[in-house]
Amino acid sequence: MTIKPTAPLSPGACIGIIGGGQLGRMLALAAAELGFQTHVFCPEENAPAAQVSTFSTLADYEDKPALDQFAASVDVVTYEFENIPVSSVTHMEQHKPVFPSAKALEVAQDRWVEKSFMRDLELGVTEFYDITSPQDLRAALDATNGEGILKTRRFGYDGKGQWRLSASSQLDAIIAELDGQAAILEALVPFEREISLLVARNAAGDTATYEAIENVHKNHILHTSTLPARLSATQASQAQTMAEKIADALDYVGVLAIECFVTPQGLLVNEIAPRVHNSGHLTQDACHCGQFEQHIRAIAGWPLGDAHAHSEAVMTNLLGEDINDWQNWAAQKATYLHIYGKAEANPGRKMAHVTRLRARR
Ligand code: AMP
Repeated sequence: MTIKPTAPLSPGACIGIIGGGQLGRMLALAAAELGFQTHVFCPEENAPAAQVSTFSTLADYEDKPALDQFAASVDVVTYEFENIPVSSVTHMEQHKPVFPSAKALEVAQDRWVEKSFMRDLELGVTEFYDITSPQDLRAALDATNGEGILKTRRFGYDGKGQWRLSASSQLDAIIAELDGQAAILEALVPFEREISLLVARNAAGDTATYEAIENVHKNHILHTSTLPARLSATQASQAQTMAEKIADALDYVGVLAIECFVTPQGLLVNEIAPRVHNSGHLTQDACHCGQFEQHIRAIAGWPLGDAHAHSEAVMTNLLGEDINDWQNWAAQKATYLHIYGKAEANPGRKMAHVTRLRARR
């Protein structure tokens, strides 16, 4: 049996957050703004989220006794990181409400399950093939005219666990690197642009959808996000219907991020994240209610906030190699700097982001 909340949480209640990174930090800060206490659970010392949380527990994501103690100390549990074991979430669901549910996590953790889920909802996805052997891969490549993207089904991020394949690829070496992990082959999408959709849903089934955000990646890491995305009115309405359909089908509670490709034939879903998302950081400063506050409202059973953007915005991620520039960003007008409190500025590590606003046109 899973525990369902009976009434909205009052200020003073404690929100449990699994995961200690910058998303957890910004969730904890937003929770504090609404008068909540927070308890962060993560395995790293001095984690960005723990630095700003009322309480913290340092333990492994599979440590059941520690998860039990954590669940006993909070009123609702959420997570900022989708690679936590589903079994840890189902374990906690016996004791406290957990949002988003284990079902959303299960779908998001496996690319085959995720794409099949979208196809069953009759949403656009690129052609995809289950790969469990070198023979499967060769057959799938024949079906996609020798080109495609091979992705591990689980635990890929920022381009890790991914290989772009063409006629000249050294398949044997790639198969060796794959090392028996289950994978999918996706047909290459000739997209015009990449966007993300953020939708919040509460347990009553109310939804609040943000305008689509346009994303540019550099070296497989999100570089900039821009609101609004360049979409036609038809595409924008397709995006909203799609986001609400996915959230309803998952009986989702919280903020859900959906990454899509814009193609001349319409929108194709690439992947979902059952959590607040890097591309949504600009909503903090550009929308009446940003994604972090919205997520806290949704899981606390509050009315959803106003997702409308009062300004246009461009968010830029500052990585380890960019962070020394913080003084330049700090000196600019209409610019909001958010630094995550990470001690080590390694190359490629997300250290901060900056959002620049401009008046709506
Ligand atoms: P993902 O890990 O699925 O988010 O993929 C990372 C990036 O690779 C995406 O943001 C796209 O730029 C690119 N990509 C992923 N899948 C495809 C595809 N099927 N066709 C073309 N580009 C893709």
